[in-house]
Amino acid sequence: MTNDFLGKMAAETLESASSRRLHARILEISEIGRTENQGSRRMGYSEEELAAKDRVADWMEGIGMSVRTDGAGNVFGRYRGQDDSKVFMAGSHIDSVPDGGHFDGAAGVITALEIATLWYEAGYQPKYSYEVVIFSDEEGSRFGSGLTGSRAFMGMLTEEEINKYRDPEGQTIDDVLGNIGSDREQFLSAEGLDYNIEIYAEVHIEQAKQLEQKELPVGIVSGIAGATRTNITFRGEAGHAGSTPMTERRDALVKASEFISTLPEVAKGISREAVATVGKMDVKPGGVNVIPGEVNLVVDARDIDTDNQSKLIEAVAEHAEDTVRDSSITAEVDLTTRVMPIPIDPEVISRMEASFKRQDLLPVHLPSGAGHDAMSIGTEFPITMLFVRSLKGISHNPEEFTHIEDLSRSVQVLKDFFENY
Ligand SMILES: [Zn+2]
Repeated sequence: MTNDFLGKMAAETLESASSRRLHARILEISEIGRTENQGSRRMGYSEEELAAKDRVADWMEGIGMSVRTDGAGNVFGRYRGQDDSKVFMAGSHIDSVPDGGHFDGAAGVITALEIATLWYEAGYQPKYSYEVVIFSDEEGSRFGSGLTGSRAFMGMLTEEEINKYRDPEGQTIDDVLGNIGSDREQFLSAEGLDYNIEIYAEVHIEQAKQLEQKELPVGIVSGIAGATRTNITFRGEAGHAGSTPMTERRDALVKASEFISTLPEVAKGISREAVATVGKMDVKPGGVNVIPGEVNLVVDARDIDTDNQSKLIEAVAEHAEDTVRDSSITAEVDLTTRVMPIPIDPEVISRMEASFKRQDLLPVHLPSGAGHDAMSIGTEFPITMLFVRSLKGISHNPEEFTHIEDLSRSVQVLKDFFENY
């Protein structure tokens, strides 16, 4: 399959000067780390990520924004508002997964900057100062972490966690920070909490197909799901696949399969947004002619509501116990990870709905199953997120594509949101 990002970009219809600028900027950023297959390779704390940040910083300075970089490499461009004691913040990340596309992250940065550019052209001063932010290493491809810049900004990273960071070449966080002229002290000195953020907004591609199916360009994110991981070990007894009669078996994989095949019903029983997946499983001893004595699997379960997330965790554990009840198999359940969901204030959602209506858009609500930088900011400050239609829902893939006119709609609606806040 050959990817044709440049062909698709060339075929885009652009209806305004703003759309033409969005198009040119997405294209210009895409050149930095563009792969042979026209995908993107711009990993966190790489030369490419740095070059992309510099390019955006030039555009920021071009409209009189004051630009600075913090100890985590996050870039902030400030456009003065009537009241400089608070900020409206908007942005996203500009790194990509190793073989990604050109919209995940970059779309949020370029659209946030477009709002300031339109204000600059119109000589408009927002109520509060407006800060466009580029968070470092959101994808976590460098250290296998994720949300690195935004978590550092919010003081959510500990020395203990960053000490474990090693990239594939064996570089530590100190090596990487040295390359960007920072060090661990500056990295860990959180700034976010000293900030007076009135609200943080993030535009992101949907990475799913709901908007495409509804034929809508933009949607309102109703909440960001928190991921939970439950380790479950089913134990039976290994035995000879030929000589053990069916009536005398304690096959752990047969039970695990029963558990997995009925797991979707468990999630559906919690809420419309609840999801549960088994994507990793280990069968022991793992011989073709041996009855599986032990199966270890991980359930990734998510919900956007805290109470429902708790119910989901319990339901997964109960489901494991129910599956093995009255059998010769045992199940051991261990919750290893729980990231709290980030709710979005209903008041903020209704303000956004009003902006959608003023911009002649249908205000559809969508949950976010994936994590975004907004999650970090949302632990302390109000946030809002917009999803923009993704072609076929493809993401983290060179084929990822979003029409520029759809991005342009997100600019109009978010600009309206800030202007009426
Ligand atoms: Zn992203």
